[in-house]
Amino acid sequence: MTHGPEDGVRRRPHVVIIGAGFAGLNAAKGLRGADVDVTIIDQHNHHTFQPLLYQVATAQLEPGDVAHQVRAVLRRAPNVRFRHALVTGIDRDRGELLLADDREANDPRAARDPDPPGRLAFDQLIVAPGAIYADFGVPGVREHAFFLKSVSEAVNLRSHLLRRFERASADPEGGHEGDRTIAIVGGGPTGVELAGALSELIFRVLPRDHPDLDPKAARVVLIEMTDALLPPFSPGSRRHAERVLRARGVEVRLGTAVEEVGPDAIRLAGGERLATRTLIWAAGVEAHPLIRALELPTTKGGRAVVRPDLSVEDRPDTWVIGDAAGSEDADGNLHPQVAPVAIQHGQAVARAVLARLDGREPAPFRYLDKGSMAIVGRNAGVAELAPRFGGFALRGFLGWAAWLVLHLAYLPGHRNRLGAVLAWGYEYLTHDRHARLIGEVTPSPAERTGRTGRVPTREVATRAAGAREGGARDGGVDVRTDGGTDDPADDPADDGKGERTDDDADGT
Ligand SMILES: Cc1cc2nc3c(=O)[nH]c(=O)nc-3n(C[C@H](O)[C@H](O)[C@H](O)COP(=O)(O)OP(=O)(O)OC[C@H]3O[C@@H](n4cnc5c(N)ncnc54)[C@H](O)[C@@H]3O)c2cc1C
Repeated sequence: MTHGPEDGVRRRPHVVIIGAGFAGLNAAKGLRGADVDVTIIDQHNHHTFQPLLYQVATAQLEPGDVAHQVRAVLRRAPNVRFRHALVTGIDRDRGELLLADDREANDPRAARDPDPPGRLAFDQLIVAPGAIYADFGVPGVREHAFFLKSVSEAVNLRSHLLRRFERASADPEGGHEGDRTIAIVGGGPTGVELAGALSELIFRVLPRDHPDLDPKAARVVLIEMTDALLPPFSPGSRRHAERVLRARGVEVRLGTAVEEVGPDAIRLAGGERLATRTLIWAAGVEAHPLIRALELPTTKGGRAVVRPDLSVEDRPDTWVIGDAAGSEDADGNLHPQVAPVAIQHGQAVARAVLARLDGREPAPFRYLDKGSMAIVGRNAGVAELAPRFGGFALRGFLGWAAWLVLHLAYLPGHRNRLGAVLAWGYEYLTHDRHARLIGEVTPSPAERTGRTGRVPTREVATRAAGAREGGARDGGVDVRTDGGTDDPADDPADDGKGERTDDDADGT
């Protein structure tokens, strides 16, 4: 059956894409001008440039610099429509998606929506919901850790960090040790980039605002379970990153596992307790739970098993791409969950869908790996070209410059690029960051992209409840010391499984 985009009238084939991330958006661009109607759905009305989210959290960039309206990106694609909605399920028999208002799952006011989004029929379905952070079963992570997956989470983290320093300023001689200690878990590119940016914020920028505070009392601790940072990079680049971070005041703790997370402290393997009220979890991802909700067969990390052309076994009309897809290289290794794979998936699936609709056999997906890069801080970065491009590495200033140029090139939107250039230039010349605002951000129960994927499936709800039961406040190991008031149970705005609630009176 061929569906119309909205009204059920028979027209051109209707291709529906779930997710306007790197994968989904590139699929939509690839279908621009083709003889199909396309609807791309996302719970946010913007595409999020996730590799730069940490710069929002550390007050380097404004939220609007890393987000770009999906409608603006697709303005010149008349056959592509955007729907702002949350996909909650799929009716395979009828070839329809179940949609909710983007707030509906968690916001009681949305229940009064007189015109809920309902269902959307498709002929070809491209599933690109991305990934969420994996807690690896560590108790307390889902309740107390910060995640960086959405713009709101980055803004919330920035406000939280700045508020902790305001709190410490109110009592420079005393106060809670955890207010001055930031712990980052995960020594991959995200953890390393965050640690570098935070060390500059804490040791160079904030002391100007808080001359009353001793910068030496602040700590940035990067915790990594294995014995090296930056696993995808060569040993030389890993050593470079570690050396730079240590020189800039970051405490790098290798071979250290986190066993439990509480609101005021974490417990490390061996029993050591580290007081912190800011734990940022960057330890790895798993596929978005929508993959399970769609009952697709999965492989490692919950990623959907896909055929070489990215379609799903026995479902030639269903394709999975990006972080949620378990595509493999010629040796059977899963492709990494990084933006270049998602972009190339999106481009390839557009060609594959058109081939299938044309009665041709789609070509298998082949990933062209150009290399990896990560920034460690001002004038310090690592960039390594893939072996087929010579395999050489740039470290230090050249690695940093290469990172800046490439991220600028990939950042969507001229205004976003201009905003980033101005912010980076200003900071480079002045060592100052202009985005040091504490927002009036109410922890939104609906904004949980990084930890649950916001699919109201029973499975997700059960997992969240399980994590709560294992947490410190429910009788697990007590890593809390001061009997503070930041238990979400104290906050009627929080259902206890999501955003950390600061102990400020305004509840933000
Ligand atoms: C902090 C951070 C830093 C990173 N740094 C780098 C880096 O430096 N280099 C690199 O290559 N990669 C990096 N990555 C990884 C990279 O961002 C991902 O590989 C990439 O975003 C995957 O693209 P995707 O389209 O599969 O998913 P995403 O970009 O996550 O997009 C998924 C989209 O689906 C939407 N969605 C999800 N569920 C639903 C639903 N139920 N209903 C409606 N919409 C839904 C989401 O809102 C989102 O817009 C980083 C990731 C993070 C989180």
